[in-house]
Amino acid sequence: MWVRVLGSAAGGGFPQWNCGCPGCRAVREGSRPCRPRTQSSIAVSADRERWFLFNASPDVRTQIEAFPDLHPRGDRTTPVSAVLLTDAELDHTLGLLLLREGRAVELHATPAVRETLCAGTGVLRTLERYCAVDWRPVVPGDEVPLGDGLTYRAFDVPTTKRARFGPAHERGRVVGYRVTDTGSGRALVYLPGVQQLTVDVRAQLDGCACLFVDGTCWHDDELVRLGLANKTAREMGHLPIDGPDGSLEQLARLRVERTIYIHINNTNPVLLEDSPERRLVEERGMEVAMDGLEVRI
Ligand SMILES: [Zn+2]
Ligand SMILES: [Zn+2]
Repeated sequence: MWVRVLGSAAGGGFPQWNCGCPGCRAVREGSRPCRPRTQSSIAVSADRERWFLFNASPDVRTQIEAFPDLHPRGDRTTPVSAVLLTDAELDHTLGLLLLREGRAVELHATPAVRETLCAGTGVLRTLERYCAVDWRPVVPGDEVPLGDGLTYRAFDVPTTKRARFGPAHERGRVVGYRVTDTGSGRALVYLPGVQQLTVDVRAQLDGCACLFVDGTCWHDDELVRLGLANKTAREMGHLPIDGPDGSLEQLARLRVERTIYIHINNTNPVLLEDSPERRLVEERGMEVAMDGLEVRI
């Protein structure tokens, strides 16, 4: 199985258009070693012919152009076979509207996510006016063949984040995906948003060959400290990396071959390659995703 990081930043990207935080300034000015990043999404394939997108970011057009494997073959055929959604956040779904020129979009999403996209943000209601949407309901726990020797299993990711649209505690609002190569039995987990590594969530990560995990914030109060927002990372549905109960400590105890932080907010100091925070991650044998990174599992 192949994985390509199409984008590695959280919502807003790096730099974010309206942000002058130290990280965004550094990447604009080139004053510290760091690279610009587009908003998070990965593409997965068993054969490098058919690709499955995990989330569709507002940067999807640029991401496709940057990756020749996703370019059309012949007329208007696309190697993009389907889009699988982890939730209904705009930075994970606005890209669907950019796929509207296609004949149809095969979309894997839970009923809760679909409902938000139809009745809440309206993304799906709009998309359906332009092209066919082939909705495949995602049921956490079910093992689903994806074609070409891949299967996926979605799992529930509990969150207390206040929903902008729809009921707050509905199941299926946020899921992670475990994708298995049926040939080798090796698995990838995509988990760009996780507030708490519960026993159930940890069980889904255990034994996987490669884990892409929520690296939104370093500190829980990162945005508060910078005066950019009054919400903590956890209140926004993201477990911070730092701290005794942060993800760095917790993930170090799991049986995972390769752990790669993704969905990194522009305020997170791990984006600066010479930062002590970046060194701490690397000392633990973990990685910080960048756009264009490819992993063979
Ligand atoms: Zn996001
Ligand atoms: Zn910023």
